[in-house]
Amino acid sequence: MKTIPYSRQNINKNDIKEVIKVLGSDFLTQGPKLKEFEISLCKYTGASYAVAVSSGTAALHIACLAAGIKPGDEAITSPLTFLASANCILYCGADPIFSDIEPDTGNIDPVGLEKNISKRSKVIIPVHFAGHPCDLKAIRKIAKKYGLTVIEDAAHSLGAKYKNSKIGSGEYSDITILSFHPVKHITTGEGGAVLTNSKLLYDKLIMLRSHGVTKEKFNNVPHGGWYYEMQLLGYNYRLTNIQSALGISQLKRIEYFVKRRRNIAQRYNEAFLNNPYFYTPEEKDYAYSSYHLYPLRLKKEYISMRSRIFDGLRRCGLGVQVHYIPVYLQPYYSGLGFKKGLCPKAEGFYFSEISIPLFPGMKNSEVDTVIGNVRRAFSRL
Ligand SMILES: *Cc1c(COP(=O)(O)O)cnc(C)c1O
Repeated sequence: MKTIPYSRQNINKNDIKEVIKVLGSDFLTQGPKLKEFEISLCKYTGASYAVAVSSGTAALHIACLAAGIKPGDEAITSPLTFLASANCILYCGADPIFSDIEPDTGNIDPVGLEKNISKRSKVIIPVHFAGHPCDLKAIRKIAKKYGLTVIEDAAHSLGAKYKNSKIGSGEYSDITILSFHPVKHITTGEGGAVLTNSKLLYDKLIMLRSHGVTKEKFNNVPHGGWYYEMQLLGYNYRLTNIQSALGISQLKRIEYFVKRRRNIAQRYNEAFLNNPYFYTPEEKDYAYSSYHLYPLRLKKEYISMRSRIFDGLRRCGLGVQVHYIPVYLQPYYSGLGFKKGLCPKAEGFYFSEISIPLFPGMKNSEVDTVIGNVRRAFSRL
């Protein structure tokens, strides 16, 4: 029996052709495809600047550094996310603060945000869980009041919109990061990007991506053409020309990817309407979700049976997954002093959640298989 995974990349002939072309060219890394990919990302999202990097995690790291996060600072993020949204704060020697979620969207709740702000707060990192945008306007308002930088973790939400504003446009934030891991909306194998409208941040990000080095400013000083200068402690977070070629080709299909994801979500919505077992994801009136995930949330009576249901679905070939174990419950974070009970809504969400397969390459027959298997798994309880 072939398993239907919860997500999967979509690679076509053109993707392969473009990658092969680069392999025969002069540039394997740091070539013309990188700039072209960055320009395509700007065109699509509306951001002024894009810095493509080696992963979404690298994007988060240099975004935090560019925002000036340093030891002693605090940065607020969602507990219901992939580890990297909080680890990037630790990379900078700062302290992550977890602010609880809205129980329906799984996004950080702007209402609870203010009580987690202190004199040491510097940044808020909202995560658009499952592709459904956070209430960015409300978050922006609080950030402005306290002078905080907003870094959107948009790893789930390329192609989503908040009101009429595309995620990545930076209308409500300072920086947005993307991930191009194969489970995300477009892929470069591993990869990510940082988007911003600030030239100042852009210049820093470019240096941070590559060893903190710059050449550009020294063309006219009495040094030779070899001269470069390291101005800050950067990394090697470069995206290769090979990966960039794949990214360009993938981004050409983003509208189709998002539409197909939304179409599958719609099919699930209709199939599971008014079912007695679980809640299905809904879109708020301000949101156009890109449906990275389709998270089911079990109703109270069924929560204790979650692992039985999960195992049953896995046994019949559905690559279901749970998103997410609240980050602060991880042993490493317990070691830092975080305790169970910190964010009750995120913990409640975690205990009730199962993500069912959703990716653009799913056939309608596979969508029907998922629907049938989910119905059977619950009706047998
Ligand atoms: C995938 C993901 C990341 C990290 O991206 P990588 O490209 O895997 O490093 C960060 N945040 C969230 C919410 C993600 O889902």
